[in-house]
Amino acid sequence: MSEVSKDFKSVGLSQEILDNLKSLGYLKMTPIQEKGLPFILSGQDFIGQANTGSGKTAAFALGILAKLDLTKLSPQALVIVPTRELAEQVANEIRRLARFTNNIKVLTMSGGLEERHKIKSLKQGADVIVGTSGRILKLLETGKLITSDIKVLVLDEADRLLEMGSLAEMNRIASFTPLDRQTMLFSATFPQGIKELSSGLQEDAAQVTIDSQHQMSTTQQLFFKVEEEKNDALLCVLEHYHPESCIIFCNSKEICNKVSGWLRTKTIDSLQLHADLEQQDRTLTLIKFDNKSSRILVATDLASRGLDVKDVSVVINYDLPHDHELYIHRIGRTGRAGQEGLAISLYTGRERETLMAIGEYLKSDCVIKGLNELKETKSVILRSEMATMYISGGRKDNIRPGDILGALTKEAGLKGVEVGKIHILEVNSYVAIIHGKVEHAIKCLNASKIKGKKFRVGKA
Ligand code: ADP
Ligand code: MG
Repeated sequence: MSEVSKDFKSVGLSQEILDNLKSLGYLKMTPIQEKGLPFILSGQDFIGQANTGSGKTAAFALGILAKLDLTKLSPQALVIVPTRELAEQVANEIRRLARFTNNIKVLTMSGGLEERHKIKSLKQGADVIVGTSGRILKLLETGKLITSDIKVLVLDEADRLLEMGSLAEMNRIASFTPLDRQTMLFSATFPQGIKELSSGLQEDAAQVTIDSQHQMSTTQQLFFKVEEEKNDALLCVLEHYHPESCIIFCNSKEICNKVSGWLRTKTIDSLQLHADLEQQDRTLTLIKFDNKSSRILVATDLASRGLDVKDVSVVINYDLPHDHELYIHRIGRTGRAGQEGLAISLYTGRERETLMAIGEYLKSDCVIKGLNELKETKSVILRSEMATMYISGGRKDNIRPGDILGALTKEAGLKGVEVGKIHILEVNSYVAIIHGKVEHAIKCLNASKIKGKKFRVGKA
């Protein structure tokens, strides 16, 4: 983060929000927050363009939270995102930022198995709705989503929304909301369509662009020329850098399968993320990667945008992406929020042109390296330290992380350090447990209760 960044106090947030930001470790504003929040908090329409990982979510979430009137029952803010995964993630970030009060309810609406419970929750009153465009539109058209109190409309990852849906769809969603709303667009890149989107939905919008040169300074980018058969090169890179966590990007799901399978023959476990997986499997994959049950995620560009997977130490482009915007999105998975990142790209003679195009876009010479410059280490230990446990209860049962942690320490005798991240979803939960203790924890929890209720517990 740059040295000019200020703390959140300077933009005039309430003391309870400031205290909570501090407890989350948000000490300084990121550039998009610093430049954007004054407009956002003033209620002006807004366009924010900044690299992935630059804290755009908190920028609009703080704007939403500042505007909520807790005496109202129907939703006051509507956030449209391109995928279900993002809906969950954005909702979670808003919940974290709203932690100073118990009264703010954030609901995701993006189809899937849990939708029935959610429509019930919606009827009981929700303040912020985060969802995918198709699903939201359906709820609007069937009158299930009341919009008379909507004050803020956010289109997050607007570039992607336009690729997946259409301008007409966004306009139609907006047409259900009051005209005096504040409308905000966020995007990492700025294709032509966004201008049209803005002129249809916004009035007198303030625009803030944080240039990517500035943002990318914390991520080191290396390019390795390799043979057509890239697997050995991949192993070489993994052995040398020994990443704590790593996403390997491939250009197709077939290549993901191939890479994952090959890693398995080298006894390296990996998770896969691509469009062929069922929604539930995708969610579980992201949870397992986030809670450190696996150190390697082999993925298509489904994982390149928007998703905030924390602490990815290395991004490897097994294939060069076909365009430079995808490249920016992919490497945005590392070096997030001012952390140092490393992005490694493997390219063959055939990918030379793509490499040149990326270099041109970055306005700098790509640093080309040879594999022979890498030290070999004899054994790769890329085993993860955690495993994931499943519990058949979630938010609908009012389960909170403390309840699960309490059961694990009391009933299973685990120490706090043996329990990792806890993810609570609508109808179930996932908990990372240190490898050696997971079977024991499952046995104990199956024999006891959480919040006075019995749940099924197993290995996820
Ligand atoms: P974007 O939407 O721009 O891709 P995110 O909103 O997902 O980025 O934020 C990336 C990460 O940075 C998240 O893990 C978020 O919790 C964290 N973050 C956001 N703002 C701050 C801040 N001011 N200080 C520290 N971390 C932050
Ligand atoms: Mg985002």
